[in-house]
Amino acid sequence: MTAPSSPLPVDVLVLGGGASGLWILDVLHRAGHRVLLLEAGSLGQGQTIASQGIIHGGLKYALRLGPSGSARMIRDMPLRWRRALGGELAPNLAGTQLRSDYCCLWAMPGLRSRIGLLGARFGLRTKPLPMPIEARPEPLKSWTGPVARIDEQVIEPQSMLSLLASQHRDRCLKIDLESGFEFSMNAQGGVDLVRLLNPETSAPLDLQPRHVVLAAGAGNERIRELMGLPGQAMQRRPLHMVVARGSLPRLNGHCIRHGAPWLTITSTVDCADRIVWQIGGTIAEECVGRDRKETIERARNCIHEALPDLDLAGIQFGTYTADRAEATTDGGARPEGPALLVDANIMTTWPTKLALVPMLCDAVNEGIPVVADEDEPAIDLHEWPRPSVALPPWEREETWTDVHSAAVAST
Ligand SMILES: Cc1cc2nc3c(=O)[nH]c(=O)nc-3n(C[C@H](O)[C@H](O)[C@H](O)COP(=O)(O)OP(=O)(O)OC[C@H]3O[C@@H](n4cnc5c(N)ncnc54)[C@H](O)[C@@H]3O)c2cc1C
Repeated sequence: MTAPSSPLPVDVLVLGGGASGLWILDVLHRAGHRVLLLEAGSLGQGQTIASQGIIHGGLKYALRLGPSGSARMIRDMPLRWRRALGGELAPNLAGTQLRSDYCCLWAMPGLRSRIGLLGARFGLRTKPLPMPIEARPEPLKSWTGPVARIDEQVIEPQSMLSLLASQHRDRCLKIDLESGFEFSMNAQGGVDLVRLLNPETSAPLDLQPRHVVLAAGAGNERIRELMGLPGQAMQRRPLHMVVARGSLPRLNGHCIRHGAPWLTITSTVDCADRIVWQIGGTIAEECVGRDRKETIERARNCIHEALPDLDLAGIQFGTYTADRAEATTDGGARPEGPALLVDANIMTTWPTKLALVPMLCDAVNEGIPVVADEDEPAIDLHEWPRPSVALPPWEREETWTDVHSAAVAST
């Protein structure tokens, strides 16, 4: 590597450009820091692009237990997001596509499911309200059990990533982790210098960051290892999700069974204008380790039980797997809230949920004081390649299974 002239001082270097990294970049930039974000793959690759985009307000946690610590922590998030999506609060997310302004809740027969729905009214800021038949989405009009609406918005994650990336184009750099990224550590165990190679020209660039924020989701594990930070900080909780496409109605919500969101369905549109359902919930956890055929079979059976009038003729199914990357907890349970670990000048972050990203950003912002230094040179990196936004799993899925036959249809 040829050494560049002199290192470029930056206040904060953010590694990873999913929902967390891009929000952190926005918050710190607006606070007056010189920030650069480095992305090794495509923006949101990993969790954000695979997520269902529900801005949870704690329902999931309140269903079973009443207002738990997690429910209390997350309950202000829907309003915060709503205001950002409306352009009233930073980051300005006006222009992000919404899949829905609310989620439906419907309970399977059984006392626990009904009590769960009722219990969810306590301890939540956004409370489920009964939905009259005429206001329900088509597949729920004939449902004989309770149906409620909860004001949890559902966003299109890809559009949010694109919006934030376009607002911060000058500050997001594509890097090649394998051959274009090196760093040296200082005596305190913090990052001293980062050397990048331009992935197109191989020209070197040295950065001298005051702070480094790891926001690389599952990628944090490897970076921490390379930096020699204490191990075992991260856990993965895998999901086996199902996708369906074709002539489907739009539906966004949760079918509750045994006091848990058993089936969570969100709807979007693919590049060929087909409606696509992402199907998660408890079944996505139960199907981890099952093969694709078995998983699709199980999802079809669940849909049949939860939406008995829905005709699945001609609908194609696929599956994808994704790991939720979170801070380690005792026994591998879901952490109560977002996680922030500090080692010298390095912060490692995991939001735990997309909905909790604003809370994580507040914590990061509080931990990094602004240092005014007007002599620092302007950052001009206009020739550096920019990362693109990741493709959602249903655009990558190569084979789709037709529901009425075992045949596999190629795209
Ligand atoms: C299937 C699924 C459904 C979900 N649904 C919801 C939901 O409906 N609501 C909700 O609130 N939460 C949901 N979540 C959780 C939510 O998606 C995550 O908590 C959140 O998206 C994490 O964002 P992140 O930016 O921390 O990580 P990621 O989105 O994983 O982004 C990490 C980024 O870092 C980059 N990267 C990786 N390694 C490196 C490196 N070494 N250097 C530089 N860059 C690197 C990646 O390319 C990527 O861009 C869901 C999760 C999954 C898996």
